[in-house]
Amino acid sequence: MNFEQIEALKQLLSTSKRIAIVPHKNPDGDAIGSTLALCHYLTKKGHHAHVIAPNDFPKFLKWMPGANRVFNFERHNTETKKIIAEAELIFTLDFNDFGRVGQMAESLENASAKYIMVDHHQQPSDYADITYSDVLMSSTCEMVYNLIGYMGDLDVIDEDIANCIYTGIMTDTGSFKFKATTSQTHRVVADLMDKGANNTEIHERIYDTNSPSRLHLLGCALKNMVILEEFNTAYISLTQEELDHYSYEKGDTEGFVNYGLTLDKIRFAVIFIENKEEGIFKISFRSVGNFSVNEFARNHFHGGGHTNAAGGRSESNLEETINHFVSLLPQYKKALTE
Ligand code: 5GP
Ligand code: MN
Repeated sequence: MNFEQIEALKQLLSTSKRIAIVPHKNPDGDAIGSTLALCHYLTKKGHHAHVIAPNDFPKFLKWMPGANRVFNFERHNTETKKIIAEAELIFTLDFNDFGRVGQMAESLENASAKYIMVDHHQQPSDYADITYSDVLMSSTCEMVYNLIGYMGDLDVIDEDIANCIYTGIMTDTGSFKFKATTSQTHRVVADLMDKGANNTEIHERIYDTNSPSRLHLLGCALKNMVILEEFNTAYISLTQEELDHYSYEKGDTEGFVNYGLTLDKIRFAVIFIENKEEGIFKISFRSVGNFSVNEFARNHFHGGGHTNAAGGRSESNLEETINHFVSLLPQYKKALTE
């Protein structure tokens, strides 16, 4: 944040405000971690803050402090619309465009609140009054830590806030291994541990709470994997039937796409997951190196994200979706193989 933005935000927060805090649809660890951390911070500073998620989030995040008070826009429609309409400030966290909040977009477009965006995705839209956007950041959680620092309040970070921020940094960096993990990220994490973040417990709660059916679903996904050596690409598909067979629950497929990248030489990994209710295949794209899956998702699958991690969707059936995907690869052969 630059000096003017910091001063403007300090001014906005100088008196008690009604505040809504919104993550993207299908919120992940960074989205839930950052919104909850900010909510705890603003509440401690005397504001009336609520987190409103566009839809439900995975069970492995429900232990987080404050998670039981997160409103679900789909489930609490009337109540959440009222909170949004009456809010004086709306923080939008971990997304860059109202297109990322699904059905909630209309309420946000009609709100009269001032908007503050905190986000690390590429190509941010310009709806916000204060835009804190930095694509080099490891996570929105690291940015919330910075924001609290810009407000001169690092000493306000308690164990709950530290646990929330730690979680989002850990999940968005693949446990501190992705390129966006900097020495500064580690300094932030060190400070969070000093302030009470329980690293071992967080890791166990996120990664070591599998159900047998989730591991069996992973087995099915890995069996379905197709490797296209010519393009250093691996893709996985999961149909609704397969998800149902393994008693799929929200969050069960988190991280599956990354297995493609563990193969020697593979630079591009993709997973296509059917959602019968929405009539789509939700797609996750991952890459290593310079091949931009953000551009790929944006240009061909109505999506976007980061250079090495992005998402998108297809409204065609599985066969058409995969045929289309495979037909695109020759034009990227150079980028994928050189
Ligand atoms: P994931 O594949 O884990 O759902 O998402 C990877 C990254 O891409 C995340 O940063 C996520 O916010 C972003 N992303 C996922 N789906 C979409 C989408 O449909 N549109 C855009 N713009 N970004 C997406
Ligand atoms: Mn994020």
